[in-house]
Amino acid sequence: MLADLSAADLEAYVARVRADLDAFKARGLKLDMTRGKPSPEQLDLAEGMLALPGNRDHFSEAGEDARNYGGLQGLAEVRKLFSGPLGAPPERVVVGGNASLAMMHDVIVWALLKGVPGSARPWAKEDEIAFICPAPGYDRHFAICEEYGIRMIPVALTGHGPDMDKVEELVRDPAVKGMWCVPKYSNPSAESYSDETVRRLAAMKTGAPDFRLFWDNAYVLHHLTDSRHEVLNILEECAAAGNPDRAFVFASTSKMTLAGAGLAFFAASEANVKWQQARAFKQTIGPDKLNQLRHVRFLRDEAGLVAHMEKHRALLAPKFKAVTDALEARLGDTGAARWITPDGGYFVSVDLAPGAASRSVALAKEAGLALTPAGATWPYGKDPLDSNLRLAPSFPSLADVKAASEGIAICMALACAEVEQTKRRKEA
Ligand code: PMP
Repeated sequence: MLADLSAADLEAYVARVRADLDAFKARGLKLDMTRGKPSPEQLDLAEGMLALPGNRDHFSEAGEDARNYGGLQGLAEVRKLFSGPLGAPPERVVVGGNASLAMMHDVIVWALLKGVPGSARPWAKEDEIAFICPAPGYDRHFAICEEYGIRMIPVALTGHGPDMDKVEELVRDPAVKGMWCVPKYSNPSAESYSDETVRRLAAMKTGAPDFRLFWDNAYVLHHLTDSRHEVLNILEECAAAGNPDRAFVFASTSKMTLAGAGLAFFAASEANVKWQQARAFKQTIGPDKLNQLRHVRFLRDEAGLVAHMEKHRALLAPKFKAVTDALEARLGDTGAARWITPDGGYFVSVDLAPGAASRSVALAKEAGLALTPAGATWPYGKDPLDSNLRLAPSFPSLADVKAASEGIAICMALACAEVEQTKRRKEA
C-alpha cells in the first residue's frame, strides 16, 4: 500500500517506477488504447456478409423488393431476429440505419421539438430540462445533452448500476426528463444493472409525467466470459409497474457485424413506437433493407448471432486479460487503483487516487501511449476527482495491448505515487 510506505520507501518506490518508465520509453513504442473500435480481425469475421444477399436475392419473406423504397419499420424477419436481444416483440422493434447513436440523437431532438407521448409540451418549451447521467459513462451520450443544452446531473455507479437512492430523489424534480442507462457491461465501468436496480428504475415516482429511460443496450450480447450477465427486461418491468411508456431501448450490430455498416434498433411500447415512426416518416422513405437482408442471410437466427459473438469473444478476451493482468501486476498492491475485471463490453475502467488520472495521461503521452483524455467519461468532460480513466483494448493487436498495458500501468503507478507524495507535502 503506497499510503503505508515511509517517506524514504515512497521515494525509493518512485525512483524505481521512474526507471521502469524510462526503460519503457526507450523501446520507442507508439500505441493507442483510446478507441472502442473492433479490430480488423473482428471485422473480418463478417467479411462473408459483404457478398450477400447477392445472386438476385433481394426479396424479403413478405415479398418486398429490398432494393426499393419503403419498409420504414424494417423487414419483419430482421425485427424477429433481434426481438430476443431487444426484449420486445417484433412489432415493437424498429430497424434504423447504421448507428444507434443517430437514433438516440434523433429521439432527443424530436422530444425537444415535439414532446413524447405524455408530454404537456415539447421539452424545449420547458424552462430547463435535465438528464441523470450515471458516471463514469459514455462521452457521446453526454455530448448530445451538451449540444442541446440539457443539464446533466452525474450520479455515482455502485457496481450493480446507479445509486438508486440518489436517482429516486432526483427524478422527483419535474425538470428531470431523462436518464442515460447502459444496463449491461456499461461503458466504461463494465457493470450490469441488478434486478433491484431495474425494478426501481421501472417503478420510481417521477416528477415529469413524460420522463424517459434511454436504455442503451449496446453490449447486450458482448460477453467475455462464461458468466453471461442477464439484465431484467426493462420494457416488461416498466409495463408491470404501470409505466409502460417509460423506456426507449436502443442497440446495434456495430460490434457484432460491421461497426460502420451494421444495423441500429429502437424498441419501446406501442405508443412510443408509433410516435417514433410518425417522426421517422418525415425523415426518410425507408432504411437500407439490403443491409437488413444481408444481416439475416449471414446471421440466420438468434443462435447464429450468439455463435458469431463467441468468435468476437475469442479475439477479445485475451486482450482484456492482458490489460487486467498488467494492472494487477503493477497496481494490485498499491491500494491506489480500483477496476472491475470485465465480464463483457469493450472497456476497462480504472479509478485512481484522486488527482492521478490527468497525470497518468500526460506521463503516458510522453511514453508514446495514447489514452482517452482524463474526464472524458464524465458530463462536461469534468471528473470532479480527476480519478477515472477508460482503457479500450479491442483495436490494437494482442502484442500491442500487452505492451501498452504494461506502460499504462507503470504511468498509473507513478502518478499515484506522486499524488501520495504531494499529499504528504501539503499535510506536512
Ligand atoms: N452506445 C454505447 C454505450 C457505446 O459504447 C457505443 C459505441 N462506443 C455506441 C452506443 C455507439 O453505437 P452505434 O455504433 O450503434 O452508434
